Amino acid sequence: PSQTEPPWLRGLNPPQREAVLTTEGPVLLLAGAGTGKTAALTARMAQILYTRQAWPSEILAVTFTNKAAREMRERIGTMVGSAVEGMPWLGTFHSIGAKLLRRHAEIIGLQSNFTIIDTDDQLRLLKQLIQSEDLDEKRFPARGLASLLDKWKNAGKSPADLDAADNEAFANGKGQHMYALYQARLLALNACDFGDLLLHGLNLLKNNRDILEKYQAQFKYILVDEYQDTNAVQYLWLRLLAQKRKNICCVGDDDQSIYSWRGAEVANILRFEKDFPGAKTIKLEQNYRSTPHILAAASGLIDANSARLGKTLWTELDDGEKVRIIGVWDGPEEARRVGEEIEAIQYKGESLDNIAILVRAQHQTREFEDRFIQIGVNYRIVGGFRFYERAEIRDAIAYLRIVNQPADDLAFERIVNVPKRGIGDKAVEKIHIVARAERTPLSVAAARLVGTDELTGKARKSLADLVVDIARWRDEAATMSPANLTRLILDESGYTAVLQAERSTEASGRLENLSELARAMEEYESLGEFLEHVSLVMDNDRGDTGASVTIMTIHAAKGLEYDNVFLVGWEEGIFPSQRALDEGGLASLEEERRLAYVAITRAKRKCTIIHAANRRIYGQWTSSIPSRFIEELPLDHIEAEQTMTGGASLWRANWSEQTDPFAHLAAANQGRSNARGPGWQRAATSGGFNPRPQRIAENTRSAVSLGNKGRSDLSI
Ligand code: ATP
Ligand code: MG
Repeated sequence: PSQTEPPWLRGLNPPQREAVLTTEGPVLLLAGAGTGKTAALTARMAQILYTRQAWPSEILAVTFTNKAAREMRERIGTMVGSAVEGMPWLGTFHSIGAKLLRRHAEIIGLQSNFTIIDTDDQLRLLKQLIQSEDLDEKRFPARGLASLLDKWKNAGKSPADLDAADNEAFANGKGQHMYALYQARLLALNACDFGDLLLHGLNLLKNNRDILEKYQAQFKYILVDEYQDTNAVQYLWLRLLAQKRKNICCVGDDDQSIYSWRGAEVANILRFEKDFPGAKTIKLEQNYRSTPHILAAASGLIDANSARLGKTLWTELDDGEKVRIIGVWDGPEEARRVGEEIEAIQYKGESLDNIAILVRAQHQTREFEDRFIQIGVNYRIVGGFRFYERAEIRDAIAYLRIVNQPADDLAFERIVNVPKRGIGDKAVEKIHIVARAERTPLSVAAARLVGTDELTGKARKSLADLVVDIARWRDEAATMSPANLTRLILDESGYTAVLQAERSTEASGRLENLSELARAMEEYESLGEFLEHVSLVMDNDRGDTGASVTIMTIHAAKGLEYDNVFLVGWEEGIFPSQRALDEGGLASLEEERRLAYVAITRAKRKCTIIHAANRRIYGQWTSSIPSRFIEELPLDHIEAEQTMTGGASLWRANWSEQTDPFAHLAAANQGRSNARGPGWQRAATSGGFNPRPQRIAENTRSAVSLGNKGRSDLSI
C-alpha cells in the first residue's frame, strides 16, 4: 500500500482489497458476519468513481433496505466528495424497479404516473374480483390469493408462466385466470403492486431487446449487497443486466439467509459461478465487529446447521466478555432487568445509541416500551410502529375508549365501521347531523338514529347491533377484568374473526399484537386506569431526537451493528418460533438458527441473551423452556447467571423431557455440580477455541468448493 493511496483503500485487508480492485469481471464475495463485506462493497464503489471508470449513473447498486441505501450513499459521499452528485441507481430492488418502470411504463401498458398500490388496496381489489367471479370468499379468501400472487411474482412468473400446480393452488384451477384478471384490472387502473415493480421490470428487459441493450451498456458496474436474500425475479434481473459487461460483484453470507419465506433463494449463491463462468470468489475471514467470545458463540451455534458452505472466522480484538445468559422469572422481570442494564450502561457514560434490543416477533416490543416509558429511557422502533401506534391496537383501544366514555367521538368514528359492517359514509354523515342538531355525542346520536327510519337496511341493522353491543360491554366492564373485557369485545365485534379468516403472516402478527394488548392489561385494575396509561404512553412520543435505545426485530437488524445487544425471549415457542416448531421441518428450524446467528453477530462488545421461566399466555401463566439455541452455544464462551427469582431453568437436567412445570425449580436445588445435563456437554465439545490469533469454530464439515455444481444440500 502506498502513501498516496486513497483513504478507503488504506485500512483494507488483502482479500477486501482484492474485492475492491478487481473491478472487471464477475466477483462473488462470500463471507461471514462482520467481515467487512458491506465496507468492501462501498469502497469498491468509491474506487470505481474515483478512478473515473464510471459515472455515478453508470453504477447499479442494490441494497436490502432503504436505510442501507441511504447510509451507503452518505459514506460514498464522504469518501469521494460532492463531485459525485448522487447515485441515481443506488437503492433496493423495488426502488430501482419503480424507477425503471416509470421510464418505460407505456411499454407495459401503464402511464408513467402510475400508482403503486398498498396491501389494503390490493386486498380490496382482489375481494372485488373474487366476488365478481362468484367464488366463495370464505373458502377462497383474498389474502390467500394475495400471497400466491406474491409468490408467483417473486418467482418471476407472469400468468402465462404458471404451471398446473400453480393453477390448482387457488379455487380449484382458477389460479391463472384470477392472476390474469387481476393484472388486467391493475393496468386499467394505471396501477401496479409491489411485486410488479420487479416482475414488470423483468418482462421489460426480457421482451425488449433495445431497452435491455441500453441498460446493459449503461450499467458498467453492478454491485449487490445481502445477495443471499435475493429471490428468483431479482436474480433474473441481475443476470440479464450483467450479461454483456459481466462486471457484477455480489456479496453475501449463506448463514444469514433469513428471508426464504419471501421467496429468497440461497441457491442463487451457487448458481453464480455457473451463470458467470470464470467468476472470482473471494472469502473474508477476519471479523472486525465482534469480540472473540461473541464470535465463537455465534459460530458454535450455526455449526449445528447442516445446509452450509462452511467458513472460518477469526478476530484480533481482545477477548472481551463472554456472552451472558440471564434467566428471569417472567416477562415483566425481563423488561425490568433490561431496563436496569441499560441504566448501568448509561451510567458508565455510554450513549443509548449503542444499545439494541432484538426481538423475534413484533409483539414482544410492548413490554420493553412500557418499561422504558416508565423509567424514562428514550427508545425508537426500527422497521415498524411503536406498539400502541399499530393500527389493530389503536382500533382495539378505540373500542375500549367508547365503552369507557360515551362522549369519545374520535373513538366512535374510528370503530363504527371497523370491521366493515355496512355503515358507510352516508350513514356516518347522518349520525353527525343528529349529533349536531341535538348536541349529543356521536354514540348517543347513533342510538337515537336507529330508532328512526332515517337509516335503512344493512346500515340500520348493523348500527343498532353496535349500539346494543356497546351498551352491553359497558355493563360487563363493571365486573369483568379489563383484559377479559378486551378479549370479549374483540370477539363479539368480529374483529378477531376477520383477522383469523385472512390466514396470512401479517394477520397472525396482528392477532399476536392483540393478545399482547390483553396481556398488558392484566396489570391494571380498571379500564380507566389502563386507558390513562395508554394516553400517557402516546403522549410520550418525543420523536427521534436525542440518543435512544433501538428496539427491532432480528429481521430488521440485518447488516447493522451495536456495542450492546440484548436478545430477549429466547424460549421454545418464541425463538424458535411456534410456527417453525409446528412446521417441524429441518429447513424451518435451520432458518431460525440462521436468524439466531444474525442476532448474536449484531453485537460488537456485549451480547446478553435472556429467557424467562414463565410467560402469560391468554391470561394463564405457562412455564417456558429455554430456547434450544441457548443449549447449542459453546460453553466456553457463555456465562450463565440466574436471578433470585428466576433462571433456575438454566440448570435443568433433561429439560426436553421435563413435563412438570416446576421441575426446573427442583433442579435448581440440586446444586450446580450435577445440574449440567448431557446437552451441555455436547455443547462444550463443539466450539473449540484457541488463543490468538483466534481461529474460531473451524467448520469441521469441510468447506465446500464453490464451483462444486450440483450440490443439493444447500437448496433449502
Ligand atoms: P454483515 O454480514 O453483518 O452485513 P459485513 O460483512 O457487511 O457484516 P461490515 O458491516 O461491512 O461487515 O463491517 C463490520 C464492521 O467492521 C464495521 O464496523 C466496519 O467498519 C468494520 N470494518 C470492515 N472492514 C474493516 C477493516 N479492514 N479494518 C477495520 N475495520 C473494518
Ligand atoms: Mg453487511
